[in-house]
Amino acid sequence: MPTSTATRLDYEALPGRVVFGDGAVGEVAAEVARLGARRALLVDGLFDAPLVDRIERELGPRHAGTLAEVAQHVPAELAARALARARELDADCLVALGGGSATGVAKAVAKETGLPIIAVPTTYAGSEMTPIWGITTDARKETGRDLAVLPRTVIYDPELTVSLPPLASAASGMNAVAHCVEAMWTAAANPVTDAVAAEGIALLAAGLRGSVREPRDLEARGRALRGAWLGGTALAVGGTGLHHKICHVLGGTFDLPHAEVHAIVLPWVVEHYREAAPAALARVARALDAEDAVAGLRELGRDLGLEAGLADFGLEQGDVELASELAAAVAPELPAPTSRAQIEEILDKAMYTGTTGKGVGNG
Ligand code: NAD
Repeated sequence: MPTSTATRLDYEALPGRVVFGDGAVGEVAAEVARLGARRALLVDGLFDAPLVDRIERELGPRHAGTLAEVAQHVPAELAARALARARELDADCLVALGGGSATGVAKAVAKETGLPIIAVPTTYAGSEMTPIWGITTDARKETGRDLAVLPRTVIYDPELTVSLPPLASAASGMNAVAHCVEAMWTAAANPVTDAVAAEGIALLAAGLRGSVREPRDLEARGRALRGAWLGGTALAVGGTGLHHKICHVLGGTFDLPHAEVHAIVLPWVVEHYREAAPAALARVARALDAEDAVAGLRELGRDLGLEAGLADFGLEQGDVELASELAAAVAPELPAPTSRAQIEEILDKAMYTGTTGKGVGNG
């Protein structure tokens, strides 16, 4: 496996500044100034009008304009509109406020212009820590790596996540757990990603349970957000494997919601790799303080109320064949090759089964 001490590794740490703390959103204007920028385009994917007004006011003359249009998986037409707006406003910096969709739009602009991004994440998606961009053209999602899209500064403010409803928090958090889990078995896994991912899973499991029990619990929100930070960091270096490939197809081609799909598919992919990646599964189990990785993920899903299956989000039985074909075409060889039939099996199981493992559509 990639983490054996005899395996040749190439590892490059990624640059980036993180400002973390309750109320840290008040630092946006100072961080724009710190970059030496004079015309910030605010990409708003949170749609919290009073907060947006406040940030615009604090930016003052450094506010070039606001783009309040984002969408999951960044449709190419939206990327083109955002780029045109940045050029028209002569922006020299992008501030992304919101979940992975807001960060994704800012990345699409940065990819073409090299403009620096300040990300202010309000979900646990983790995109703010990665140099990975994604754009969807004609229902096919393309992703790639480019250091130009890695945010220069990330402002984490747990208070901004309080408004995220319990189920949305749970699904988004499982997206971050998936980043950690998958980083343990990709070809780029290394001692840094192993440590980051294990700590990320532990922080997320505790933080999400607390946040779902009491959405205003800032201590729990802070823990979950630190876990999301680590999840993004693990994804940035470890990269994506089979789980992410399947989820990108379900989001990009079938328009299923990103975080929810991650939450549903993850335990099935972990189960699929039970024999191929025993060391990774053991680390996941330890991080979850569980006997077994799959059982631990299912228990977490139960505690977070994640009962829905893919069918509940609109995937139809007739879609499974095409989804499997598209995912099989990009399925990685590590930790073991996966056939189209095996992906079909994973999707069949995930159709009516939520993260908890309890059947929804079929009782
Ligand atoms: P999202 O950004 O689409 O947000 C989901 C919904 O939650 C939106 O309606 C949004 O307005 C709302 N929302 C966000 N924060 C909120 C808050 N604090 N309170 C209340 N509502 C809030 O969803 P997401 O799951 O964060 O991001 C998904 C996108 O991010 C996908 O396109 C995915 O591919 C991408 N992503 C990319 C990477 C990467 O490294 N490139 C990593 C993870 C996710």
